[in-house]
Amino acid sequence: MPYDFNLKKENNHLIIGNIDANELAEKYKTPLYVIDEEKVRNNYNKLYTAFNSKYEDLHMCYAAKANTNLAVMKILEDEGSYIDAVSPGEIYTALLAGFTPERIVFTGNNVTNEELEYAHKTGVTINLDSISALERLSTIEGTKGKEISIRVNPMVEAGHHEHCITGGPKSKFGIKEEEAVEVYQKAIDLGFKPIGMHSHIGSEILESEPFMLAVETMMDIAGKVHKEVGVDFKFLDFGGGFGIPYEPTENELDLETFTTDIIKLFKSKLEEYDMGKPAMYIEPGRFLVGNAEVLLTRVNTIKESYRKFAGVDCGFGTLLRPTMYGSYHHIVVANKINEENVEEIDIAGNLCESGDLFARDRPMPKLEEGDLLAILNAGAYAYSMASQYNSRPRPAEVLVNKDEVDVIRRREEFSDLFNGQKIPTRLLK
Ligand SMILES: *Cc1c(COP(=O)(O)O)cnc(C)c1O
Repeated sequence: MPYDFNLKKENNHLIIGNIDANELAEKYKTPLYVIDEEKVRNNYNKLYTAFNSKYEDLHMCYAAKANTNLAVMKILEDEGSYIDAVSPGEIYTALLAGFTPERIVFTGNNVTNEELEYAHKTGVTINLDSISALERLSTIEGTKGKEISIRVNPMVEAGHHEHCITGGPKSKFGIKEEEAVEVYQKAIDLGFKPIGMHSHIGSEILESEPFMLAVETMMDIAGKVHKEVGVDFKFLDFGGGFGIPYEPTENELDLETFTTDIIKLFKSKLEEYDMGKPAMYIEPGRFLVGNAEVLLTRVNTIKESYRKFAGVDCGFGTLLRPTMYGSYHHIVVANKINEENVEEIDIAGNLCESGDLFARDRPMPKLEEGDLLAILNAGAYAYSMASQYNSRPRPAEVLVNKDEVDVIRRREEFSDLFNGQKIPTRLLK
C-alpha cells in the first residue's frame, strides 16, 4: 500500500482541520501556506512520548530553523518543548515566543564574537562548534566558570541530499572526534565547566541504523572524555534528523522500534562508562512541523509546448526544496482529490528560471486552469527558506485549529519589497 499522507477528504475536496482547502484559498487567496495546529501538537506528543516513556529525563528541543513562525513556536512552547536555535535571530524569536533562556540551546556555526556575546547575555546554553569559538567565548566578560557544551562530528553521515549531511569527513560542523579529549581539557583550562556534548549527523533519517551509529559513536567519545578529562555530563544531545515520508513509496519512521533501540543503546553506554543519568536531548525540526502544513497554489496556465506544463501562481521563492535539493513533494488537487491520475505533467512555478519546477513528469488527474493544488509536507524548511526573488511578495500563512482559522502571517505587498531600501539623494537630482 502506498503511503497516503493521512489526508482528510470530503466531497472530492481536501479538508484541513475541519475546513475545506478550497474555501481557504477563496478567502485568503493563493499562494497560501496552511498549517494544522492539531498535527503539530500530535507530532510533538508522538515523538516525545516514544522517547520519554523509555527514558524520563528527556529534553525535546524543537529545531526552530524548520519553521520560525511565532505562532508555531508558541504552540510548541505550550506543549513544553525546548528550542534548538542556530542563530542569534532564532534566540531572539524563541524568547519572543515565550521560551525562557533555560529552554534554549544555541548551536552556532562560524559565529562572531558579537554573536557569542549576545548568546551569553541572554543566558541560553551555548554549544560550541570550534576551538576558535571556545577560545573567543573565553575572552568575553563574565564567562569564567560558565557551563558549556561542545559539538563533535562523529564520522557518521546521513541525509537525503549532500547538502543535508552534517556529519562525516566533509562536513563543516563540529570538532574532530579524535580531538575531543583535548578540546574538553582545553575548555576546562580556559575556565569553563563543560556539561554537554552534541552531535547532529544529518536530516530526513527514516531508519534506525545511521542514528544508532551516531549515538554509539558519540557515547564512546563522551565516555572517553568522562574518563580521561573527568567531565560529568549533565546532558548528551544527539541532534535531530528524524524523517517523514515525502514520497508515497516511503514509510513513516517506526518510532517504537527506533526509540527502543536507541534508548537501549544509550543506557548500556551510560553504564559501560559509568556516566550516571544525564539528560538526553534531541532536536527534531522536520518531524514536528513538516507534515503539518500545505502550500495551496492555483493552476493558471495549461500549456503544451515541447512538454506539457501546468503553471501555478508561486515558484521556488515560495517553496525552495524541489529546486535546491531536488526534493519530491507530493501534490494533490484540492478540488478533485478523489480523481485518478490520467497523465504525466510538469508542475511549473512562475519565476523566470528554468529550474523553477515543483515536479517533472508527475502523474496527475486531468488538470485544468483554476484547479487548486496542495503541495504537501510544506511545514519544514519551506516558508523559513522563502524569498522575494523576482520581486514576488511572500504569501500569507494561516493556522487552522479544527473550525478556527487565524492569519498568522499577512500576505506581503509590493511595499514590502523595499523594506529598508533607500535611493541616495544624489541620485534623485
Ligand atoms: C537542522 C538541525 C536540526 C534539525 O534537523 P531536522 O532534520 O529538521 O530534524 C537539529 N539540530 C541541528 C543542530 C540542526 O542544525
